Amino acid sequence: MKNPDTANNPSMEDLVSLAKRRGFIYPGSDVYGGLSGTWDYGPLGVALKRNIMQLWWKMFVDDADNMYGVDAAILMNQKVWQASGHVDTFTDPLVECSNCKGRFREDKIDTSRCPNCGQKGTFGEARQFNMMFKTHVGPVQDDNSISYLRPETAQGIFTNFKNVVDSFYPDLPFGLAQQGKAFRNEISPRDFIFRSREFEQMEIEYFVHPDHWQEAFEAWIAKVHEWTEALGLPAESVHELEVPENDRAHYSKRTVDFEYDFPIGREELLGLAYRTDFDLGNIQRVSGKTMEYRPKDGSAPFVPHVIEPSFGVERALMAVLSAAYWNDTDNERIVLRLPKQLAPVKVAVSPLLKNKPELVAKAREIYALLKKEFGAVAWDDNGNVGKRYRRQDEIGTPYCVVIDFDTLEGENAGTVTVRERDTTAQMRLKTDELIDLLRK
Ligand code: ATP
Repeated sequence: MKNPDTANNPSMEDLVSLAKRRGFIYPGSDVYGGLSGTWDYGPLGVALKRNIMQLWWKMFVDDADNMYGVDAAILMNQKVWQASGHVDTFTDPLVECSNCKGRFREDKIDTSRCPNCGQKGTFGEARQFNMMFKTHVGPVQDDNSISYLRPETAQGIFTNFKNVVDSFYPDLPFGLAQQGKAFRNEISPRDFIFRSREFEQMEIEYFVHPDHWQEAFEAWIAKVHEWTEALGLPAESVHELEVPENDRAHYSKRTVDFEYDFPIGREELLGLAYRTDFDLGNIQRVSGKTMEYRPKDGSAPFVPHVIEPSFGVERALMAVLSAAYWNDTDNERIVLRLPKQLAPVKVAVSPLLKNKPELVAKAREIYALLKKEFGAVAWDDNGNVGKRYRRQDEIGTPYCVVIDFDTLEGENAGTVTVRERDTTAQMRLKTDELIDLLRK
């Protein structure tokens, strides 16, 4: 067999086509001609996305001693975004071509020539374009009713800092975690789900004593690598970029972007930022309410500082798909070598022949048993067994189970054929051995 790693360089087209064909991701509003920057998840995409988000929640919240989850409203008081600086500074530089009127993000193009019409020298000065989607809350549309679809989940965490401290009085350092939708009116959404206008974030605000931010930052760098490893991303494709001061967001004193070698090139996968006391300080200033933390040892209260790892779900999913995609030319198959815990379907069950009632009945029995135990179990009796294997390989199902005549009688009675996705190796296992294998 060819070394899988050398055969594993999918193009963007490979990923987009597989995602659409097999029901992972469709263009948003497709039936009406689409809506730029939006994507819809199909049955397998939902499962993969949820598995990524659950893995994150398990790793960073459930398995930690000092992490608390929150789920804040998407619509928030406009003061949140005034205090945070987003109303004034959450902007990208916009340039317009005087010839074709195409609009682009200045820092993403070569402005000497329009990428749309090809004319030279058609761009003037950039203007700052605010990326927040504005709306009005309630039936009166005036300045007081303005709200925004949140451009990051972080502010919903900061605004609940005091609530959680009052309810739980956690020791420092501790973190608040949130997953949910974020919206940015990107000037040029592109590259499949990589730059969307509606996407999902998983963010942590990790509150520390100001003297200890550096060690917390370093510890988070290590944790981020654990995360990318759990996603099955090869370590050599994950890169740390120390973001220079002039490129950092307005709130950050240190930022490390974690970049990944996507099929579109090396791009940001997630960010890690030291936000100082910028946000809690702003809330305190604008709301007039104290955001100080009172140490239990009676020492002087202070406003904690914050380390923020900010993960994008879509970029994680795109990285997972591109790392897992394998064109196994020797066996003429496309395989998604997803980590088992991320696979949308854990196991597929089928009778060797679908016109033999005794095989079908036994297969149905095993299917029901596994379904009760693992939930994400597929029934597949279409075509021949080889075709079923190919179909399951392409969506990343780690195991296929086939019920044949040996399952029913003879020296192997009670055993099933279990076929492993990556090696195509087959083994005969008893049902309880199969359950143990799937639990691993
Ligand atoms: P970029 O420079 O690529 O625009 P950013 O630095 O503005 O990204 P952050 O504000 O740090 O991004 O957002 C945190 C994370 O949210 C990003 O690392 C990314 O994973 C995700 N993210 C941000 N914008 C988008 C988007 N438009 N579509 C999908 N994911 C996004």
